[in-house]
Amino acid sequence: MIKSKGMRCVCGKIAKYTKNLKFNNFTLGGWKCKSCSEIYYNTKIIEKILLLNRLKKTKDYLTLIQ
Ligand SMILES: [Zn+2]
Repeated sequence: MIKSKGMRCVCGKIAKYTKNLKFNNFTLGGWKCKSCSEIYYNTKIIEKILLLNRLKKTKDYLTLIQ
């Protein structure tokens, strides 16, 4: 389980929780390491976004073939 205040980065420093990070066209919170600029997102949110994108593409496709 990821802690909300900070999580350990691969570089050994602590990545701090940051709001307004960009992922695709979405703005979401995540953990950013100031030392190496590595960003960690909540994987559950990322999964939802990817699913939404997939649904959107399917919808566009369905509109095209109508
Ligand atoms: Zn780091």
